[in-house]
Amino acid sequence: MGLPKIVVLGAGYGGLMTVVGLQKQLNMAEAEVTLVNQNPYHYVTTKLHEPAAGTLDSEHARVSLDDVINRDKVKFIQDRVTKLDVENKQVHLEEGEPLSYDYVVFGLGSAPETFGIKGLLENAYFIRNLDGVRLIREHMEHLFAQYNNREEKSDEPLTIVVGGAGFTGIEYVGELVDRIPHLCKQFDIPRDKVRLVNVEAAPTVLPGFDKELVDYAVQYLEERGVEFRINTPIEECTSEGVVLKGGEKIQSSLVVWTGGVRGNALLEEAGIETMRGRVKVDEYLRAPGYEDVFIVGDSSLIFNEEERPYPPTAQMATQQGQHLAKNLLALLRGGEMKPFRFELKGTLASLGRGAAIGIVGKKKLFGKPASFLKRANDWRWFFQLGGIGLMMKKMKL
Ligand code: FAD
Ligand code: NAD
Repeated sequence: MGLPKIVVLGAGYGGLMTVVGLQKQLNMAEAEVTLVNQNPYHYVTTKLHEPAAGTLDSEHARVSLDDVINRDKVKFIQDRVTKLDVENKQVHLEEGEPLSYDYVVFGLGSAPETFGIKGLLENAYFIRNLDGVRLIREHMEHLFAQYNNREEKSDEPLTIVVGGAGFTGIEYVGELVDRIPHLCKQFDIPRDKVRLVNVEAAPTVLPGFDKELVDYAVQYLEERGVEFRINTPIEECTSEGVVLKGGEKIQSSLVVWTGGVRGNALLEEAGIETMRGRVKVDEYLRAPGYEDVFIVGDSSLIFNEEERPYPPTAQMATQQGQHLAKNLLALLRGGEMKPFRFELKGTLASLGRGAAIGIVGKKKLFGKPASFLKRANDWRWFFQLGGIGLMMKKMKL
C-alpha cells in the first residue's frame, strides 16, 4: 500500500500554512504531500492594494514558492485546478493528469461578488491577484499619460471610481491619495483635474466597524481629496463609467470594484452545499458529509458565538492552516483531531503611507502607531512563511 496522499489546493494563506506546518513536522515516510497552485509564487493578498495603486513595486507582494517549500517533503505542481471530484476523490487540472487524494485541502481563495450588477465583470477591474493589480496600475498610468494628449481637449476630469468602501476599498483609496499627487506632477495635470470617488451602498463607510475609527478614516481621506458617496449603490457599470441608484452617471475610464467576495465556484460545482459560495465547515474544517475534504480560507464559513459569520480574512485563513496541519498529522498518526477555534487578534486597515486605523485587543489605534503595526504584520507573515531569511529579504527590497 502506498503512502496516504494529501493534496493541498492553493498557495494562499490557508493552503501555505497547512503545507508549512506539515513539512515542519512530517517524517518522509508518513505521507505524500502535493501542493497545486496556478503560479510558481504566493501573492500577498493583504498587500495587493499597494501595487494596484503603484505605491509599491509588485515584487513586495510576491513570494517565490522556492523560498517556502521543502521539495524533499512536498511535491509542487504548477497548474490550474478545474474540478474537484469528491465522489471519486480526484482533483482535475487544466494541463496535467487528475490527482487522486486521501485528503484534500481546498484553499483556492475567493472570487469577486458582483451581485449580478450589469457590466461589472466586463468593464471593472478587480484587486484580486498580482496580474490583475499590475493591469490596474498600467491602465491608470496610461490614463494619466493620455490626459494632456487627448485629441479633443475637454474640461472633463480624470475620474477614478472605487466601488465599495469596505476594507479593500478604503485601503486602496488610501494608497491612491498618496500616488495621485505624484502622477499629477509627472504628467503636468493640475490636482483638481483628478477626481477620486469612493461609492458605498451602505449608510456608512466600513459598515460595522468602530464609528470613531471610521470617522477618523473618512476625515483623513476627505482632506486628501476623496469624494465619498455613501448610501448609493452602483447599479450598472459600462465602458464609460458607473450608473448609481436613481440614475446618476459618473464618467470614468477606471472603475475598480471592491464590493465584496464570495467563495470559489469549484465547491458549488462539486455538489457541496454553499452560502454565497462559502461552505459552512464543521469544527475540524471539513465540508459537511465529507471526512476527507477540508476547506481553509475565504471559501470556508465559520460562525461566531452570536451566530454571525466571521469575515473572510488572512488572519482566519492562517490560523486555520496552522491548525489543520496539526490535525492532519494527528490523523496520519492515529491520534484525535482537535476542534478549531478562531482567535481574533485585532483588525488594522492602512490609509496609505504612515497612516492606518485599527483595534488590537480593546485598544483603538490611529495614524502612525497603527501603520507601524500593520507593516509589522506583513513582516510577521514573511517570517511565518520562510523564517528570518525571507523576512530580511523582503524588508531589504
Ligand atoms: P488566497 O490568499 O486568495 O490564495 C488563493 C490561492 O489559490 C492563490 O495563490 C491563487 O493563485 C490560487 N488559486 C486560485 N484559484 C486557483 C485554481 N483554479 N487553480 C490553482 N490555483 C488557484 N485579511 C487580513 O486578515 N488582514 C488584512 O490586512 C487584509 N488585507 C487585505 C487587503 C486586500 C487588498 C485584500 C484584497 C484582502 C485583504 N485581506 C486581509 C483578506 C485576505 O487577503 C484574504 O482573506 C486571504 O487572502 C484569504 O486567503 P486564502 O488562503 O483563502 O486565499
Ligand atoms: P467587504 O464585503 O468587506 O466590503 C464590500 C463593500 O462594498 C461593503 O461595504 C458593501 O456595502 C459595498 N457594496 C456592495 N455592493 C455595492 C454596490 N452595488 N455599490 C456600492 N457599494 C457596494 O469586501 P472587501 O472590502 O473586498 O473585503 C473582503 C474581505 O477581506 C472582508 O472579510 C474584509 O474584512 C477582508 N479584508 C480585510 C482587510 C484588513 O483587515 N485590513 C483589508 C481588506 C479586506
